[in-house]
Amino acid sequence: SPAVPETWTRTTCVYCGVGCQMDVASAGGKVVAVRPADHPTNRGHLCVKGRYAYEFNHAPDRVTTPMIRRDGAWREASWDEALDFIADRLRAIIAESGPDAVGVLGSARASNEENYLAQKFARVVLGTNNVDCCARVCHTPSAKALKAMLGTGAAANCFDDIEIAGAFLLCGVNPTENHPVVGARIRQAVLRGARLVVVDPRRTELAELADVHLALRPGTNVPLFNAMAAVLIEEGLLDQAFLAERVTGFDDFAAFVAAYAPERVAGDCGVSAADIRAAARIYAGAGAAMCFHGLGMTEHLQGTEGVMTLINLALLTGNLGKPGAGINPLRGQNNVQGSAQMGCDPATLTGSQLIKDAGPRFEAAWGCRLPATHGLDLLQMMDAARAGRLKALWAFGYDIYLSLANEAATRDALAGLDLVIVQDLFLNETARAFGTVFLPAASFFEKDGTFMNSDRRVQRIRGAVPPPGQAQPDWWIIQALAGRLGHAQGFAFDSPRAVWDEVRALWPDGAGLSYERIARESLHWPCPDEDHPGTPVLHQSRFPIGQTAALAPIGFVPTPETTDETYPLLLTTGRTLYHFNAGTMTGRTPNTALRPTDTLDMAPADAAQLGLADGEPVRVHSRHGTATLPLHVTAQVQPGQLFATFHCPELFVNRLTSTVRDRQVRAPEYKVTAVRVERG
Ligand code: SF4
Repeated sequence: SPAVPETWTRTTCVYCGVGCQMDVASAGGKVVAVRPADHPTNRGHLCVKGRYAYEFNHAPDRVTTPMIRRDGAWREASWDEALDFIADRLRAIIAESGPDAVGVLGSARASNEENYLAQKFARVVLGTNNVDCCARVCHTPSAKALKAMLGTGAAANCFDDIEIAGAFLLCGVNPTENHPVVGARIRQAVLRGARLVVVDPRRTELAELADVHLALRPGTNVPLFNAMAAVLIEEGLLDQAFLAERVTGFDDFAAFVAAYAPERVAGDCGVSAADIRAAARIYAGAGAAMCFHGLGMTEHLQGTEGVMTLINLALLTGNLGKPGAGINPLRGQNNVQGSAQMGCDPATLTGSQLIKDAGPRFEAAWGCRLPATHGLDLLQMMDAARAGRLKALWAFGYDIYLSLANEAATRDALAGLDLVIVQDLFLNETARAFGTVFLPAASFFEKDGTFMNSDRRVQRIRGAVPPPGQAQPDWWIIQALAGRLGHAQGFAFDSPRAVWDEVRALWPDGAGLSYERIARESLHWPCPDEDHPGTPVLHQSRFPIGQTAALAPIGFVPTPETTDETYPLLLTTGRTLYHFNAGTMTGRTPNTALRPTDTLDMAPADAAQLGLADGEPVRVHSRHGTATLPLHVTAQVQPGQLFATFHCPELFVNRLTSTVRDRQVRAPEYKVTAVRVERG
């Protein structure tokens, strides 16, 4: 019979960037139920992941003891043995190859405090800026584009604005499956009368409701949004007052985008010129239009530049700096915003402060000299590992082998390392194939701290049950290793709250977010002092970079991943409602009964032409590798295109994806791979 709850603990769902608040019931040291909290973030709702996907916490294969691999076999070790082993190896590697031979990867599944400590460890203890996180492969292009044009990489508006927006422009995002509580709020708003434009190759649930669905050819975001800008200018759908006061570069931009008139680009984009015009009219004519975008915008050769073309639309129409508007990246994992914001980024310190600007303040606070060399990001670390320059990697809460694009390239990189430290709940694929040491981590049900969701709310997580066996929170592990390496001072925090107070002292925009306040109030940063009410809407009177922002003329650069006779179909990869990223957690819950496997989604016409039947195994070949998946015939995808999720290690969809990367920040191009399909 179900256990009777003994205690209920308020915490934050770890899964997606919505950051729902929930109450966790525990009994006998186990999580036994989850129910939604009536909180401004989620208003009494949770999705099937937050509500039901908690049984991983007590899965029988949870690793609860440190392990060291010797002669190919994992052997249990004490914390002392494991930490001494790592410290000795790191000292030897640094003595021989220098501190830049080591890399550290933070995690969206770890708290802000833990990510702060991870980057401090890299910079202070190891002496390298080689620190990054999984934001690199998802929304670093958003952060780069937003910061370059508007001065901050964060979402402009808050989720509460969904109820007041007159229209939505959803670009490369499927919130119904990936941010379900936000997806439901958008759906409700549309059913109440808000207009909706969906830009997505697939006919998603929200696309079914849309006034205009631009089912573009994957890889053509830039010409499509340039064409919408051309319509806005040609038809005078502009906010002239906003342009006059707050935007520069209009004349040059207008001349540039004239070459992208809808009638010129519609064919390349695979949509009609009339629909592009209709979409532009809806976006400009709503009074306030809220743009949400996802990885369908960012995981491309022109990911960063694609987001810049979206920002152009907001600048032209004045859809910035007011409620119900904004450019709003929907982050895929709850704390992906926080991991980068805390400084798990080779070029920036906590609060996304540039090393060249804020370095002296951090040096004074930390009592050290910051490393002088440029750090490597995740993709550069993989390149350096393949070249023999990176020798050691410490990754926590991140199965890089399964989830990075192009399995062959990742394998070559990880195989070249002398020391791979994996810190997680389970022996993930990275640990199984390449791990040297495994450190058992506490889950978010088992520790305290804060997370930062997509709309810039900082929210508490609270331990509901104790960690099993010898598992420890990431913050404890980082501090213990720092102590082993002679840095006990500076890593002697007795609680996450003490770490957070150091974060607040170094991050001006977060200074007002004390534990006491965020327990009482739902606060969005910037919140620079304890009396500040927080900032639900950015850019109201000026941009962080100044009064004005410049329009960005962005030319189209087609991806090299093109179809031909051998590889005639385009594959896009993504997630499903029931599972989360590498499946490490949701794959060990009853959600597997709802969705037992990844599938290859194919249009009925293509399946008929290839003589393939729904459910049969098919072999997918790309120029980079082969994978076998069950076929799912669905009208959600267009003829000539395919869609696959990547949650199942046994299917390993990233054997197919390419080595193409965003031109500016190197996020892999998960969204366009040319393939062919045959009976498996
Ligand atoms: Fe909320 Fe996202 Fe968790 Fe679902 S996965 S409960 S939408 S935070």
